[in-house]
Amino acid sequence: MNMLTDFMSLVFPEACVVCSGPVIKTEQSVCISCRSELPSLLTRPFSNHEPLAKKFEGLVPLRYAVSWLQFVKGGSTQRLLHALKYGRRPEVGEVLGRLLAAELQSLGQSAVFDLVIPVPMHPRKQKKRGYNQAMEFAKGLAQGMACDVSDQILVKQTATETQTRKRKLERILNVSEVFVIHPEHKQALFNKRVLLVDDVITTGSTIEACARLLIREPVAELSIASIAMA
Ligand SMILES: [Zn+2]
Repeated sequence: MNMLTDFMSLVFPEACVVCSGPVIKTEQSVCISCRSELPSLLTRPFSNHEPLAKKFEGLVPLRYAVSWLQFVKGGSTQRLLHALKYGRRPEVGEVLGRLLAAELQSLGQSAVFDLVIPVPMHPRKQKKRGYNQAMEFAKGLAQGMACDVSDQILVKQTATETQTRKRKLERILNVSEVFVIHPEHKQALFNKRVLLVDDVITTGSTIEACARLLIREPVAELSIASIAMA
């Protein structure tokens, strides 16, 4: 058995982040069988995923609200999100982005976006982690949909420690205070069908704050998507 494991690790250097089974390099982190069993919530014909669309009803006008995979504690979606966020496996985000793009395409929803924007991460936190998992997901989506992606337009403001403390109450009262549209990259939004994405939506307050900022710009329309809602 040990010899077999050794042999497998030689031929298949990586393990599937969902089932721990061997993956070949071209499969990149998620094996073919786990890919085919992703618990997608998207329906045919395509419609807005109800719980997420409901969350935003009356708050921000959205074209589409997509929450892709069903989240079950201990299930495959949780394992994927965990590997992406804490397991130093940024490529999982790109793989998932490409898979969602392919699924949207199969539902007749290809090429409905011009620009994908990830929910930004604080620069200090991103430096520590080495990547922003929402950006990795955004990159895969943009690649699959052959559209642009940018993490330079919507940014998280850097604040010194003192500012952070002073603004704590302010931030509790209004989350949007920490996000800004970069003035130099503002014009990239003009007349664009923007897709704002995050890896996972919990309360929804973060992505809502970002959506509120973007909708104030002269975008053609705004949609949101996440891998899952937890
Ligand atoms: Zn697998």
